[in-house]
Amino acid sequence: MSAILLEGKSIAERLKAKIKAELEALKAKTGRTPKLVALQIGESASSAVYVKAQKKVADSLGIEYELRTVPDTISAGREAEELIKELNADDNITAIILQLPLPKGLDAKRLINLILPSKDAEGMTPENLGRIISGQYRVGPCTAMAVMELLESTKVDLYGKEAVLVGHSEIVGKPLAMMLLNKFVTTTVCHIATGERGILPEHVKRAEIMIAAVGRPEIIKGDWIKDKAIVIDVGINRVGDKIVGDVEFGTASQKASYITPVPGGVGPITTTILMRNTLELFKDSFKL
Ligand code: NAD
Repeated sequence: MSAILLEGKSIAERLKAKIKAELEALKAKTGRTPKLVALQIGESASSAVYVKAQKKVADSLGIEYELRTVPDTISAGREAEELIKELNADDNITAIILQLPLPKGLDAKRLINLILPSKDAEGMTPENLGRIISGQYRVGPCTAMAVMELLESTKVDLYGKEAVLVGHSEIVGKPLAMMLLNKFVTTTVCHIATGERGILPEHVKRAEIMIAAVGRPEIIKGDWIKDKAIVIDVGINRVGDKIVGDVEFGTASQKASYITPVPGGVGPITTTILMRNTLELFKDSFKL
């Protein structure tokens, strides 16, 4: 392997140290402690893992963390709406995250849109997503922000570089495309229709920055990777008892200059970004 590994854990540790220092100063100044509330509807194994991880990071940084649950019954949607309104109105609560996935039949977008933009821990409300277009954002979708941190950690000048994103979801590809454009990166966004036309390889082959967020094991072949490209693999796919990314790691790492491992690349940074978003909302609540 010739590429440098972009390990998320060390980047997350650096970010945590900065967040902690800033939080301690803010607590001393305001006499208040930020509080993040996670709202979980029904039970899901993946949500339970996220909630545990979030609590651990929040505790380590001195952010109060509370889990509020709504049982998965016929009235779950209405109850969740009421709870979001209650949390919006509570001055002791800094930030709210709706744990996904939701039980079948519930509309995540509708519920997210009820969260006040000033309490939106994941930067997923229309107002906060819209701010990314103008480059005036302090909070944003955690995974997209984590990818930006990984790119910045390389210290490579992004200006004028050619990036190809595969995946155009609202949590990764779309906001990330705007973040890259704000940095004057020439950005192409590919998606299912690009794949169906069979022209994914020709796009990926031009990428100096290659970002995959598809959710299909090793869909991006190593021999498509441009020499010295930076490769960020957001994908998490379970294959048998192994977790693999969207990029064929073995061959891609021979050609790339930097590459993220899966697991251990993007994943460890996202929860820390959630806490940084909470910190930013806390600062905003004091107009700091
Ligand atoms: P999604 O299903 O919302 O979006 C998938 C995207 O891939 C879509 O844009 C779709 O058009 C595109 N796509 C699907 N098949 C394709 C094909 N054959 N060719 C080209 N494009 C294709 O997924 P998501 O929520 O954005 O997640 C993507 C992956 O990232 C998943 O594996 C998910 O588990 C992972 N993920 C990881 C983290 C993390 O913290 N590391 C966070 C979020 C998501």
